[in-house]
Amino acid sequence: MEELRTDLLIIGAGPGGLGAALYARRAGLDFMIIETNMAGGQIINTDLVENYLGFKDGVTGFELARSLADHCKSFDIDILEYHSIESIEEISHEIEGKKYSFKCTGSKKIISTRAIIVATGAKPDRLNVKGETGLLGKGISFCATCDGALYRDREVAVIGGGDTAVEEALFLTNLVKKVYLVHRRDELRACDMLQCRAKENKKIEFVWSSVVEEFIGDEKLEAIILKNKNDGSTRKLEVGAAFEYVGLQPNSEAIKGLVDTDESGFIITDTTMKTSHEGIYAIGDVRVTPLRQVITAVSDGAIASMYVDKYFLK
Ligand code: NAP
Repeated sequence: MEELRTDLLIIGAGPGGLGAALYARRAGLDFMIIETNMAGGQIINTDLVENYLGFKDGVTGFELARSLADHCKSFDIDILEYHSIESIEEISHEIEGKKYSFKCTGSKKIISTRAIIVATGAKPDRLNVKGETGLLGKGISFCATCDGALYRDREVAVIGGGDTAVEEALFLTNLVKKVYLVHRRDELRACDMLQCRAKENKKIEFVWSSVVEEFIGDEKLEAIILKNKNDGSTRKLEVGAAFEYVGLQPNSEAIKGLVDTDESGFIITDTTMKTSHEGIYAIGDVRVTPLRQVITAVSDGAIASMYVDKYFLK
């Protein structure tokens, strides 16, 4: 396996990692940026991003991702795509006057580094109910942009009441006959603008105060069983697909044990993006933050690189 050395390793090339890379380049840092998939992060699977400043008519998630990556590439930043980091361990090696503190072992490379910015983002959480595992990819999906077209003119369900659920339900109405938006409370969590649009959309039927008890189907999803939380009654909803948007799980496995996290595994940082471990910074969706947006991830990245620079000067 190829062994490399760098001063700063940025793990993840979503908006946060790319923001960090741009600011690291401007600060003249020696760094590498590595990404498990293609650069861009979760927005690649988002139909339309309407709240990133500078795009008054909105921009598709894919285009925005490409534009962020292209901006970095125009500054000669080489993004190592399709390379994952599977484990991170502490080391104490001094080579040519530089102290390397971390050994990051990946699928294709081992990278020794003095500092790390963790920008690994988050992945969709699952409901973990009966019938779910066997029907993943057979009607149960986490990506309306990828799979919505398969259910053209059919009835589908979206589970969740946050920004993602409502945004994706709205997107699906362009393709399907009807969207049941199933939420466990009688009030959405999504921002006001999305709520208004969804409530005005005649193709969306809200199923309030209801949770999924079971997914039914052999080779493909045929129905979902819902339980009303107020009166305990159940309802069978015959749908071709169910899109789950019930929150996020942090991609923090590789760093587990090295830094403090909250009970869900999101990494705790201070306002400079520094974690509990000297030399490790975390940005974007993987950290404990009051707002998970493209704009906040990019901002986190800029802040982290600035403070990594200061850390090297100490
Ligand atoms: P979220 O904000 O955490 O919302 C998750 C939703 O799923 C909540 O409505 C929650 O219900 C529900 N839920 C959680 N566990 C459940 C369970 N076991 N059974 C049924 N329902 C369950 O997650 P998100 O919508 O994926 O958004 C993640 C972050 O990305 C947020 O910070 C969001 O603002 C951001 N985001 C922003 C945009 C945008 O700006 N355009 C787009 C997408 C996402 P409760 O409400 O009852 O807790």
